Amino acid sequence: MENNYTVLARKYRSQDFESLIGQDVLVKTLTTAINTGRIAHAYIFTGIRGTGKTSTARILAKALNCLSSDHATSKPCCKCENCRAIAAGQHIDVMEIDAASHTGVDNMREILDAALYRPTNARYKVYIIDEVHMLSTSAFNALLKTLEEPPAHVIFILATTEIRKVPVTILSRCQRFDLARVPVETLKKHFAWIAEQEQIELSDSANELLARAADGSVRDGLSLLDQAIAQTGGHVDEGAVLDMLKRTDRGTVVKFMKTVLSGDVNEALNKLDEIYNNGADLTMLLNDMMEWTHWATRMYPSLRLQAATSSPYTADQRETIRQINENISLNTLSRIWQVMVSAVSELQASSNQKQCFDMLIVRLMHIADMPPVSELLKQTSQPEPVVQKSVVEKPKFMEINTQQELADALQSSRELLLYSYYGSNLEITEFENGKIKYYDRKGDKDFSQKLSLWLKDKTGKNWTLEILNEPTNEQTMSEHTMSEIEADPMVASAMDLFADAEIVKTSK
Ligand SMILES: [Zn+2]
Repeated sequence: MENNYTVLARKYRSQDFESLIGQDVLVKTLTTAINTGRIAHAYIFTGIRGTGKTSTARILAKALNCLSSDHATSKPCCKCENCRAIAAGQHIDVMEIDAASHTGVDNMREILDAALYRPTNARYKVYIIDEVHMLSTSAFNALLKTLEEPPAHVIFILATTEIRKVPVTILSRCQRFDLARVPVETLKKHFAWIAEQEQIELSDSANELLARAADGSVRDGLSLLDQAIAQTGGHVDEGAVLDMLKRTDRGTVVKFMKTVLSGDVNEALNKLDEIYNNGADLTMLLNDMMEWTHWATRMYPSLRLQAATSSPYTADQRETIRQINENISLNTLSRIWQVMVSAVSELQASSNQKQCFDMLIVRLMHIADMPPVSELLKQTSQPEPVVQKSVVEKPKFMEINTQQELADALQSSRELLLYSYYGSNLEITEFENGKIKYYDRKGDKDFSQKLSLWLKDKTGKNWTLEILNEPTNEQTMSEHTMSEIEADPMVASAMDLFADAEIVKTSK
């Protein structure tokens, strides 16, 4: 690589109004004003970094002073002495001041005192003050004094990323322009054009990733492109950019969200480990998950927005989102969004981002609070309507009429200790709704007490448990089940086949 490599942002800096990227409104207003001779004494440009504030300021300075015309022109030639000196930041009458380093009032007074003298080589003396919000209060006061009675040959061009920090007294004397975030499509077109000029390969998907990561800033996007070119030697593809951005590709994010919303905690956390171990930046991942939530909401059927085609997802990915949307409520999506929004600052404040993210996933799964997507998808393919579990009210009290019904009830209410004790130790001689007569082989008093309480709770009435003192000839439920199995002709013949075979109970 050449030693005198110029960064792309500088090399391709806009030199005239036509080549200014993504600021159509500003260009139109400003060129019309210049063409009709309505030139203000002070302008202020505001917008996020890298949207072209300084470039616009320099173009305006050229437009005011270009020698190709005998008055200000919206089409500076970019070739004359003035144009070239201004582009290089070396014109004697065009002062570029970085407020971040000239915050003292002395500096400002000195600079403004010189404003009284007429320009040397130009029509107008131009003061470009970058990051003007950084000026101290006294520096602002000095500036205000000059702005109140500006000499006819002086033009101020102020630029700031933080307009709210600029005093209203200053703002009220300036013509204000808000530089918009440059849209993704515009950035893509620009980057593709630059790639062509530089003769480098830039795949469409890589370009899209860069343009989105730039978040509206031409300069940020170009410095990412610089970095990608340096890392790949000029073959910039999606993988390289994902790697560079420590970003997970959109397909993986869509699948991951499906897993998270399916309710399988284990699988979701495993998947997160995998993404994390592949080097993903968790802040970016959260960002991508928020992007997913935003688009899933915009694609939600009942909203009837025609969003699908403008979303960044492929047709397959959109289909997956559509399927998930069928089984999730709009309300849930909005709660998921809220949790993600609060997770942004939690993640930044956390000393262990991975732990923080694990907890976020668990929380999201609780919010989703729905049967697994897979199960719902199965259900939707069947003719009967989907019944949400939570909608079905449990009957207040159970009816238990047989030994088997009691066993089933214990099992389904997850009373597994009672269930297994009941199955293997009780010789039941009588069973009716409200009364059980049995011999307890282990004689654990706790058991009968617990069973009695449980029965009262579930059936709403007191049961009589009559405990016999002597063993009976009855089998326990497990023994009974076992002998039924042994009686099965298939099992019997299998037992014959393997002489030493033994039937062993395995827990489910
Ligand atoms: Zn010129």
